[in-house]
Amino acid sequence: MSTLESKLEAIVGAAHVLTDPDVLVGWSTDWTGRDRGSARAVVRPGDAEQVAEVLNVCRASGVPVTIHGGGTSLVSGAVPRNADVLLSTSRLVEVGEVDRTHKCVRVGAGTKLQTLRALAAEHGLLFGVDLSARDSATIGGMVATNAGGLHTVRYGRTSAQVRGLEAVLPDGSIIKRFPKVPDDRSGLDLVSLFAGSEGVLGVVTAVEVVLRPRPRHRVTALAGFSTLEELVAAAISLRGAEGVDALELLDGVGVSLAVERLGLSCPVKAEWLLLVELASDREQLVELAELLASADVAEEPAISQDSVGRGKLWQVRESFAEVTRLFGPPAKFDLSLNFESVAPFAEDAVALLAAEAPDAIPVLFGHIGDGNLHLNVLRCPDTSRVFAPMLALIAKHGGNISSEHGLGSLKRDYLSLARSPEEIAAMRSIKRAFDPEGYLNSAVLFPTVAERSAP
Ligand SMILES: Cc1cc2nc3c(=O)[nH]c(=O)nc-3n(C[C@H](O)[C@H](O)[C@H](O)COP(=O)(O)OP(=O)(O)OC[C@H]3O[C@@H](n4cnc5c(N)ncnc54)[C@H](O)[C@@H]3O)c2cc1C
Repeated sequence: MSTLESKLEAIVGAAHVLTDPDVLVGWSTDWTGRDRGSARAVVRPGDAEQVAEVLNVCRASGVPVTIHGGGTSLVSGAVPRNADVLLSTSRLVEVGEVDRTHKCVRVGAGTKLQTLRALAAEHGLLFGVDLSARDSATIGGMVATNAGGLHTVRYGRTSAQVRGLEAVLPDGSIIKRFPKVPDDRSGLDLVSLFAGSEGVLGVVTAVEVVLRPRPRHRVTALAGFSTLEELVAAAISLRGAEGVDALELLDGVGVSLAVERLGLSCPVKAEWLLLVELASDREQLVELAELLASADVAEEPAISQDSVGRGKLWQVRESFAEVTRLFGPPAKFDLSLNFESVAPFAEDAVALLAAEAPDAIPVLFGHIGDGNLHLNVLRCPDTSRVFAPMLALIAKHGGNISSEHGLGSLKRDYLSLARSPEEIAAMRSIKRAFDPEGYLNSAVLFPTVAERSAP
């Protein structure tokens, strides 16, 4: 065993340094299974001090470190490219007391989203961000990617839920910013800097998040539309409804696949479907039915306010995580578009795929309430002919090539499609100031060390 591994064992204990090559393969492969990197070890520190020691030892040894939360990144953000040490946050799971007065709680960065949601529910509260990867995604990873999700239309992204955090910087110093009062304008907002930083500025080790009052009533509907234009028009008007909590677009092709191949039952059949949920302290069933009656729906919408009925409607939306994997790993694009560009982009994307990958099945879905969408291209084993042209098409339609997943290492070469040279230079300056050696998440956003393979 090399000196580095023994030093790591001395810091975290032998049980928390994994070096078995078979085990490392799993840790080095991305969520879709399409992308595999190489790690020399996985190390699982138990607190911020151990994280600092691990970083110091790796930096001194010239070994890159990649941070691994739940590993659900869809842009290979946690895939080690340079025979890295993978720093897992899986032991940073301490959960504090829920502060019911200020409606907040401090949790370790490795805490799973579902754990946080369940904790909030126990106290009659809720955490404002939810996503289908809730059983694996961690709060630290969600801060690092500034994750959005199913309720962003109401509560905003993860950054809007963060009150304070603790992070270990690449030089091993630990910053703790947990303001005792909500208003804090004393100096640079270091907490905000970490939201969306994709792990290039430091390891988030603990996060204090705000929790929200839990609305007493919920009503959910699934409505079908003949055209995407009609669905977008309905989404625009529903965004203004009181208590709007979710507005999700579903491609009829994806729903048909879920019905045919996964045995799902869906009460609505249409080219395009819109899932809408209102939540407030009063019943809104009639109100939602009236709102949908004034939209161009293709047939009678399914609508429910009891938890079983609502669960069945949400199941249609949740099935897309499985549907998109039916033909092996899909090509994934997450994009944000102005509402008026959604339908023209969808048409051009279909045309592009018909020309470059005629067997591929495009499935468009996502958070239409914010204009944040996912285009998954199924049955497309060779993505090389479609990846760059699709990103260019998104940019041509005035869209952003990443609405919520970040750039990771998969899309890092396309940063210039989204940001100006001046902005990229400023980002690089910030990275250099925090991490002059460029060893932390060195493959993410801007590659900072030459790629190398496992020793
Ligand atoms: C089925 C499915 C549905 C999804 N839906 C959504 C969605 O609706 N909205 C959305 O925004 N995303 C979504 N995602 C993407 C993903 O779940 C999010 O990006 C999530 O925030 C990643 O969390 P994680 O803990 O898995 O992070 P990881 O995948 O482990 O890491 C993500 C990035 O953050 C860095 N990182 C991780 N932990 C830390 C830390 N403690 N400190 C510093 N850096 C860190 C990693 O190095 C990496 O660059 C989905 C993914 C899947 C598989």
